[in-house]
Amino acid sequence: GRETAYRRARIANLPGGAFLEGRWETTEMTVEVRDPEDGVLLGTVCSSSPQDVRRAVAFIHRHLMEDDWALRDRREALERAAALLADQAGRFAEIIAAESSKTITEADREVRRCIETLRLSAAASSELVGETLGFDDSMAGANKIGWFNRKPVGIIAAITPFNDPLNLVAHKLGPALIGGNGVVLKPSGRTPLTGLAFVQLLLDAGVPAGRLAAIVSGPGVSEAIVTDSQVDLISFTGGPKTADRIAAAAGAKKILSELGGNNATIICADAEPAKAAEAVVAGAFGVAGQNCLSVQRVYVHISLFDEFVDRVVTGTRALRVGAKFDRTTDIGPLITEAEARRVEDWVEEAKAAGATVHVGGQRRGAFYQPTVLTDVPADARVINEEVFGPVVSILPFIQISDAIHAANDSEHGLQAGVFTESIELALAIADKLHVGAVVINETSDVRIDSMPFGGFKKSGVGREGVKHAVREMTEPKSTIIKLA
Ligand code: NAD
Repeated sequence: GRETAYRRARIANLPGGAFLEGRWETTEMTVEVRDPEDGVLLGTVCSSSPQDVRRAVAFIHRHLMEDDWALRDRREALERAAALLADQAGRFAEIIAAESSKTITEADREVRRCIETLRLSAAASSELVGETLGFDDSMAGANKIGWFNRKPVGIIAAITPFNDPLNLVAHKLGPALIGGNGVVLKPSGRTPLTGLAFVQLLLDAGVPAGRLAAIVSGPGVSEAIVTDSQVDLISFTGGPKTADRIAAAAGAKKILSELGGNNATIICADAEPAKAAEAVVAGAFGVAGQNCLSVQRVYVHISLFDEFVDRVVTGTRALRVGAKFDRTTDIGPLITEAEARRVEDWVEEAKAAGATVHVGGQRRGAFYQPTVLTDVPADARVINEEVFGPVVSILPFIQISDAIHAANDSEHGLQAGVFTESIELALAIADKLHVGAVVINETSDVRIDSMPFGGFKKSGVGREGVKHAVREMTEPKSTIIKLA
């Protein structure tokens, strides 16, 4: 309709170039960006080369050597970026909803969160402090005084996934820039337009062109970024297979990684089934389950099991799957039809092994119906690997120790949820779960942008959450003075 045409016209004006050596460059070779809902062409982005990567990194390196960018100026630029994003919130939400699989409602929420991430990044200027050193406590320190302060690591490669194309970019660029670093952004090739528009917004807010580069794709480009000797730190969010490839290529470089999970939520016998079921439906199916915090396994006390399954099934049936730009839509498509087919395969495999499909289980193009499973065998992929799709498995337990054991029996350890009316029980369970965060009376699907965020085991290395990322992206540097 007319609204769609208008939206596409606005998106067509986006920079599709690569931001290299302080300006937007275009290349002859381009890559198409299409709306995953209907395959309509939204724009094209540059296909860059490893040589372009080397030019971009060398340019930032020279700039870091030559120019000072004071902390106060960094803070003010990020404050302005937050204000600019608030002014352009509608436009950014449209770009996100057009190129990703988010509905416009989900995209609006991501933009609001990103404004906060930028404000938190500006406020994290207060983290860039050090300490005086207590030298007279050691033999080597006699007759010396000193202190440390925090210095930027240098150049950070920010490599980001498709599922939060704006806020996950901001969670890397905000802390990197306030910390005094230069950044090379490589946004997901499936959702590059949001990241490129965000780079332009940062430039408009006063981030010096010598601090930033953005390169989307091209043969050998990812490898060139992670292996460049002038890149000091890689901050990666994405899948575990990509993380392994990056680590193998990058060698001894410092790598921060935010990877996936197959997150569990435990519903104890004293929980209120209606509240817990409502939270599970939201936490399992938001963004069609394409969220690292998505609820994938729900362990429910056997006394509540049937009622809980009924409530989740009823809640799931009420969800509207449909067009992303329709405000009444709850759930949009998956990012590609291939991803929807993969999810379909995993569910079929579980079914063949004895699982019961209560609702869902159907695919139409890139859309997959929200799906609720029970009787899932212990070795099924839908519970052991990250589904990254709208599928939740509900499993009964009798002893709470069995639920804790099952929740921990995973290669991943990102987050978990616990529902109980007893605070003592909640805290006892929370203490035993081997995950980066436990959410009590909510599901695993809660992230507060200021909290330390990250996982145990295969869910990643290091922590984001703005001030925690700033610490990871700076190094303490000591100054020691020998007294006369
Ligand atoms: P992905 O691993 O396929 O891609 C992530 C990024 O890595 C993209 O920009 C991609 O182009 C790039 N990449 C691919 N191969 C590379 C290589 N060899 N070297 C360097 N970069 C390379 O992930 P995705 O499908 O975009 O995102 C989904 C995954 O991200 C899920 O596993 C999800 O759990 C995870 N994720 C984690 C978090 C978190 O914070 N823990 C948040 C969101 C998503």
